[in-house]
Amino acid sequence: MLTAGVDIGSLATKAAVMERESGRLVGGSCLRSGSTPAEAGREALELALREADVPRGELAATVATGYGRQSVSIADSTVTEITCAARGAHLLEPGVGTVIDIGGQDSKVIRVDADGYPLDFALNDRCAAGTGRFLEVMAEALETDVGGLAELAASADEPAAITHTCTVFAESEIVGLLAGGEAPAAVAAGLCRAVAQRTALLARQVGVDPPVMLIGGVGLNREIARELGETLQAELVVPGQPQLVVAMGAAAVAAERVEARG
Ligand code: ADP
Repeated sequence: MLTAGVDIGSLATKAAVMERESGRLVGGSCLRSGSTPAEAGREALELALREADVPRGELAATVATGYGRQSVSIADSTVTEITCAARGAHLLEPGVGTVIDIGGQDSKVIRVDADGYPLDFALNDRCAAGTGRFLEVMAEALETDVGGLAELAASADEPAAITHTCTVFAESEIVGLLAGGEAPAAVAAGLCRAVAQRTALLARQVGVDPPVMLIGGVGLNREIARELGETLQAELVVPGQPQLVVAMGAAAVAAERVEARG
């Protein structure tokens, strides 16, 4: 059986086409959400179907999730991203105990039971600090992009101390550090450490039960993953395509719903 999941995030929209029997991702896509989430959802699904080389009619079901899920008409049903993150992470790592999802404008930590269902979660959606958008703004101040930020950080001897986590204050702090002669690499490393430490505080609110999986677009930043694993002193797994895990979880929920109907 083939099913699809569409995850409409605040910054990026992702789609995953999955084969139920093998649990394999056969097609995936990721694009900017833009101002019309419904359009982004349709486009992401089309791209994933094209990559999978599957006609839309072969999908047994499609589930939408994420911030913009209600606006999507291509889906048969919707489900929260908390459930999808748990289902997707469990699919990839059946023993996973804690899922940390750092996205564009929020971060979540979800404790997952042995069957891959959420037990408890903590959410930071009040401010951009420690999220993907924060990193985008800081990368710009360092004249690079989010991909370049991790690379830059990895080349630092010692991370600079970043005291502000508010996006506005941190940006002026960085400008000040650079003007004072601090190396851009050290500033980038300091930013990665600050995001990891902030995320660890959120994780401690719900409790950390290893193995821990880091998902969401920020999972692509290896420095943050390394710092987070060290701060939590826990085994931290980053899947191959961390940004697609929630969409994969949505596709798994779609398959479960078809099976439940019989
Ligand atoms: P959302 O679902 O909330 O829209 P995502 O989970 O898709 O967010 O994450 C988006 C964030 O991922 C971006 O703001 C950016 O910081 C980060 N990101 C995207 N690509 C990369 C990359 N190549 N390296 C590091 N970080 C990345």
